[in-house]
Amino acid sequence: MCGTISLDSPDQNALCVRMQGDERVRGQAGLLSERRGSYPFIDFRLLNTTAPSGEIGTKKKVKRLLSFQRYFHASRLLRGIVPQASLHLLDEDYLGQARHMLSKVGTWNFDIFLFDRLTNGNSLVTLLCHLFNLHGLIHHFQLDMVKLHRFLVMIQEDYHSQNPYHNAVHAADVTQAMHCYLKEPKLAHYLTPLDIMLGLMAAAAHDVDHPGVNQPFLIKTKHHLASLYQNVSVLENHHWRSTIGMLRESGLLAHLPVEMIQDVEQQLGSLILATDINRQNEFLTRMKAHSDNRDLSLEDANHRHFILQIALKCADICNPCRVWEMSKQWSEKVCEEFYRQGDLEHRLHLEISPLCNQQKDSIPSIQIGFMSFIVEPLFVEWSRFTENTPLTITMMNNLRKNKGTWRGLLLKQHSNSEDNAAQTNEDKIRTSLEVDHS
Ligand SMILES: [Zn+2]
Repeated sequence: MCGTISLDSPDQNALCVRMQGDERVRGQAGLLSERRGSYPFIDFRLLNTTAPSGEIGTKKKVKRLLSFQRYFHASRLLRGIVPQASLHLLDEDYLGQARHMLSKVGTWNFDIFLFDRLTNGNSLVTLLCHLFNLHGLIHHFQLDMVKLHRFLVMIQEDYHSQNPYHNAVHAADVTQAMHCYLKEPKLAHYLTPLDIMLGLMAAAAHDVDHPGVNQPFLIKTKHHLASLYQNVSVLENHHWRSTIGMLRESGLLAHLPVEMIQDVEQQLGSLILATDINRQNEFLTRMKAHSDNRDLSLEDANHRHFILQIALKCADICNPCRVWEMSKQWSEKVCEEFYRQGDLEHRLHLEISPLCNQQKDSIPSIQIGFMSFIVEPLFVEWSRFTENTPLTITMMNNLRKNKGTWRGLLLKQHSNSEDNAAQTNEDKIRTSLEVDHS
């Protein structure tokens, strides 16, 4: 097995390493049995090895630099586990229902879980193809449909389907929310086709190849990505560089001027890096200042880019603003991912991270803390910007109702157990934005 290495940019220390000969794995969107495991793939053999940084070239080092998902594929292929062909479960009825759902893709109660089932696990590819077409991007940028499809399949398949939360369905959900935000009148009027393409691409790829554990976990286990990115926005940098690697490999934008491609790559980076929850205050402070001073001018490309960053941040954490039935499912999934990390830490004799202890951190208390200290402040500012459109009012109502429901469940839990975990957790989430919910 050999890999190819490409230096993406002279000013970046990141490398994108792609495996040769993995077309057979990548070519099939849908039910790949080897991707439907139940465990986040971290190669623990690599955790405790110390390697000198800054030097590449050996086969061993190439292996270490592979993306999580590529390494996962490669190791299975090396062990002779050949992926099975996709199961063709779809029939015309399912496709018809999926098409019908797409006709309402701009509505806030769009059920992404149902859409994912109807598309046989291809929600991200199907949604993005539709939205690119709907926004006229294929025509405007003269995009090759085959290349577009290839790029989207690569993105979708580099998400880890075994992650309870950070998987391709989360990416599809964020993209659908982004589409709704791009239609907000305050913004839509000023957006250029480039803004729209960047917004949708960034939403689709913002968590690609997420390992299902957070940055503090990667740092304390001395993962090579943590040293590569010097412990700063480790995951987000990886999502961005992986995206650029796939974008170049697909050749989707190869027909456009070099300066434009460079601009797209930089803007994608700036958007994806904005989803780092550790930078929440930086963005909130700037947004508040703009609203207070009424100095946002959306004719200005820099201001539009800033609002796209805020819109992507909102889309990324909008789960509590969805209707209860969907919001509850997301809450359970994200907590399951936290608890899995806690179990891993326990097994590795590491200190269990905040919010990751299933015995102490309940779903209602985690959610109430998350809503109070992260979601509400951001959406209050988004409401000020959009000036209370029907969508914003719906989201804020859902947020209020969902928080009330979690509070009710917490009270019930307290009356059963009489513990004080809730307040403890609210304090925890306030002081520790380290746990990456995004
Ligand atoms: Zn996310």
